[in-house]
Amino acid sequence: MKVHAVTVCPDRVDVVVGVDATEAMRTSSIPGLAERVREILPTLEMHLCDNPSGRSFAEELADTEVPHLFEHVVMEIMALAGSPRTLRGQTRWDFKRDGKGVFRISVEYDDDLVCLGSIKLADQVMKHLVDNAEAPDVPAETARLRSLRMREAS
Ligand SMILES: [Zn+2]
Repeated sequence: MKVHAVTVCPDRVDVVVGVDATEAMRTSSIPGLAERVREILPTLEMHLCDNPSGRSFAEELADTEVPHLFEHVVMEIMALAGSPRTLRGQTRWDFKRDGKGVFRISVEYDDDLVCLGSIKLADQVMKHLVDNAEAPDVPAETARLRSLRMREAS
């Protein structure tokens, strides 16, 4: 999964990502993913998820689109960096219009810099979850994002 474009809008940030034919489209085809999620973001399983089948995110996690997992990772990192948990995210796709494997993710934000930093960190987390790349230091990085916010407030 690659991030193609990030656009800051007044009420949300839009992210276009692409999953190409050689990459896993669904979490169910990635061995060990649930364990890695539990290690790097233990609070992710408690997420609420508004999906048509009414499943909890813990259930979704086992078999959902990789970009939908990315959306939840972004929201969780923002929350760890001090953003309110009431902010919402959404993942949509229209392969006929945009091409196969192209997903559009929207995330509400309270602080644009924290949101952009969270998207960048979430991309590194996804590389760890999907490709088994080295894990980023999430506590250190979210603390850094949190300090950006505090500097703005003072
Ligand atoms: Zn969801």
